[in-house]
Amino acid sequence: MMAAVDLIIFGASGDLSARKLFPALFQLERLSLLEADLRIAAVARTEQGLDDFLPVLREKMASYMGDDAPDEDEWARFTQRFSYVSVNFAEPKEYAGLRDWLDDSRISLFYFATPPSLFAPICEHLSTTNCLAGDCRIVVEKPIGENLTSSIQVNEALARYFNEQSIYRIDHYLGKETVQNLLVLRFANRFINSQWDNTCIDHIQITVGEMVGIEGRWSYYDNVGQLRDMVQNHLMQLMCLVAMEPPNSLEAESIRDEKVKIVRALRRIDERSVAEHVVRGQYADGWIAGAAVPGYLNEEGCEHESSDTETYIAIKAHVDNWRWSGVPFYLRTGKRLPEKVTEIVIHYKDLPHNIFGDGANIPNKLVIRLQPNEGIELSMVSKKQSLKERMSLQGYPLDLDFREGSDMDRIPDAYERLFLDAINGDQSLFVGREEIEESWRWIDQLVASCQKQGVKVRPYHAGSWGPAKAEILIEKDFRSWHV
Ligand code: NDP
Repeated sequence: MMAAVDLIIFGASGDLSARKLFPALFQLERLSLLEADLRIAAVARTEQGLDDFLPVLREKMASYMGDDAPDEDEWARFTQRFSYVSVNFAEPKEYAGLRDWLDDSRISLFYFATPPSLFAPICEHLSTTNCLAGDCRIVVEKPIGENLTSSIQVNEALARYFNEQSIYRIDHYLGKETVQNLLVLRFANRFINSQWDNTCIDHIQITVGEMVGIEGRWSYYDNVGQLRDMVQNHLMQLMCLVAMEPPNSLEAESIRDEKVKIVRALRRIDERSVAEHVVRGQYADGWIAGAAVPGYLNEEGCEHESSDTETYIAIKAHVDNWRWSGVPFYLRTGKRLPEKVTEIVIHYKDLPHNIFGDGANIPNKLVIRLQPNEGIELSMVSKKQSLKERMSLQGYPLDLDFREGSDMDRIPDAYERLFLDAINGDQSLFVGREEIEESWRWIDQLVASCQKQGVKVRPYHAGSWGPAKAEILIEKDFRSWHV
């Protein structure tokens, strides 16, 4: 039988904790999926008691959860698990209270919802203050570094105190139902699986569109940009799951092995090819949902008159292996786009010979939507029912709505799945060290190529789908973006 688990959340008073972590834990509580003996330590710098911490947390959770927020009884049941421990993470002498709280006969699951600069000091201080004496795991949030060198430094710092089997690196996209369903769709349906290669697929698009701007984080974001903030992790992970070979099993090691092969097979975008394969953009003043919004350089907190940081990027990528030879992957992500959307679109090839006439060329596509409305939609071509028209074709969606046939009336948040897996010691939806470092290697080269070739950001109006050049990137291949 597995030992009882203690969850220790560093950064418990932060935004991520209130918006995602505690609501997810609460939903698990509501579904009776937390073991009765699981304890939660909320750890943050502010010196206060549990009685001060909990009302503030409850208020924040209520504002994020709306009608789904806990009622009195649920809140009482949930919070009986809680302790609050005040620690300045940078001060080893302040870990004594935490050491007293820990119980080495139980599994300690440390969750670092803190700035990444604190990962290494926290590990070191946990070790020197004897807080790692029992069976321990850690969960860390992105970003793991901002380039290959710094990601190696972060990973080395973690590896000094924890073995790889105890490190759970979160990419919350992997916890989404649709992403897990992608594995089922690919590897449990023979007809999909047998058509999943360059003989049947023309190209693949992955879009992550955000309507928000940089949300008061100008100085942070200006050092990072959309490529490092979104492509290195989320888009790369989605691409790996779409492109990887069938793993031998659902074991973490097996899935990671296949994913990392894809990152390694990504064709490097060098100085010669960068202008043809990458479009960078930055939003200017515009309109979103009927409201005027400022451009990137007019955002609150903007510190410079000009900036070459991209808030939009489109990339034409190639996976150089047998399965995907000749199939481009078009990736794009941006802020201040007209829709909040995350989707993967598989565009199948036209038929070798069309017996239905010119007007009937409706491409088959498979849309895998992560948001909004998680689901999978297969556009099929079918005959229009009609006596007047002899053979008129039209596209029909075969829609797989996850809520149908489910015993839940809502789609669980990614963090619910990820918490359960971390508690149960299942790493398959967490990111391995090699994947992260290989993907930084690819990104670093792309950044260097952009710099050498002077691929500058192009302006786009907030509320548009990015710079016109991004349309050209795909249209010159006689294709178009899905939305
Ligand atoms: P916040 O700034 O809102 O919260 C930081 C937390 O860390 C607070 O609880 C703060 O405690 C604590 N903290 C900071 N420094 C110290 C210290 N020296 N000693 C003790 N406690 C300290 O950050 P977020 O919650 O937004 O983000 C946390 C991490 O998660 C970051 O790495 C971020 O990149 C990542 N992330 C965040 C997402 C989000 O939606 N917010 C999404 C994905 C990743 P106190 O208030 O007591 O000072």
